[in-house]
Amino acid sequence: MRNVSVAQSVAASGGPSGHPDVAVLIPMVRRIVGSRVSDSAAVDDLVQETLVRVLAAADRVEPGMLEPYAIVTARNVVTSMWQEQDRHRRNRHRVVDLRVPEAPGEDLLAREERTAVTQALARLSEREKQTLLAHEVSGQGTRSLADELGSTAGAVAAQLNRTRARLRVEYLLALERLEPPTDRCRPVLLALSSGDRRRQREVDAASHLLQCDLCARLSPPLMERGHSRDDEVRVPIASDGDVVAARQAARELAARLDFSRTDLTVIATAVSEVARNIVRFAGSGEVVIELVEEHRSGVRIVARDTGPGISDIEQALTDGYSTYHGLGLGLPGARRLMDEFAVFSEKGRGTTVTMTKWRQEG
Ligand SMILES: [Zn+2]
Repeated sequence: MRNVSVAQSVAASGGPSGHPDVAVLIPMVRRIVGSRVSDSAAVDDLVQETLVRVLAAADRVEPGMLEPYAIVTARNVVTSMWQEQDRHRRNRHRVVDLRVPEAPGEDLLAREERTAVTQALARLSEREKQTLLAHEVSGQGTRSLADELGSTAGAVAAQLNRTRARLRVEYLLALERLEPPTDRCRPVLLALSSGDRRRQREVDAASHLLQCDLCARLSPPLMERGHSRDDEVRVPIASDGDVVAARQAARELAARLDFSRTDLTVIATAVSEVARNIVRFAGSGEVVIELVEEHRSGVRIVARDTGPGISDIEQALTDGYSTYHGLGLGLPGARRLMDEFAVFSEKGRGTTVTMTKWRQEG
């Protein structure tokens, strides 16, 4: 059996709760998967997939929930391996895409989806609905909406995020044609969907997830967010030109939150560094930039590659350490610039850097 080695290093100078250590979850995940799957190569793959998913969600769940989330994710990953079609995965891109095209003919699936969207929309307040539709369907910008509503662009963006989070929950419930079995389900699902870690603690999402089959089943599609959001940009990275594109995309997205000019430069610089790292050491990968809202507004950057991995992360994060000499600030520089920073790397499998900058209030 191939040995899975994971290293993680963390600095969370501004983070509310530090950063979880995903590596400690490996033995448990392996035990769960191993008890259900006999083929050892498949076990390796499923352990990997579980860890990748948990890592992708790590910033969006409160630390106490990481282990329960890993448990339900491992179970879900195993289950979905047996399923020919994964309905949630297929549908999750549609959740925020209200412009579902009219399907030709009587496509049952498309009709089901439209019905689910309609039902989900019906559960929003009139104001939530109007703002969301003006933005998603009519393309009205957050600044213009803010002017109309007597609010700020950042507050409108945050409200839109919360509305989308609710819409995702209601959409999945409508697709399942289910009313949640307990009063706690909706609050838990909403806290997961919005990635609001404080709220997850308040509603004790961790224990609920282990007790409730429905919420365990719905949580991954809620956490693995779709690609059609306008508060998220994905930039494939394979060349120096892509580094520039990622830098520019980060600056433009962050500008929507009224970051200071200095902070915009800081964010763009950090993105340059992690993107350049991908080009140098892995050849190719991607940078995902998203706006996040966790009782404050920020921008989160996830840089992924499937390159050789970093064998000694502590060393790689040491100031002055750089395997390419010259201009770059490298990972230590990016870490210094951002409020939260985590590296997850696996030899031969790749590296994921997650970093967040929060907007200073007032
Ligand atoms: Zn539940």
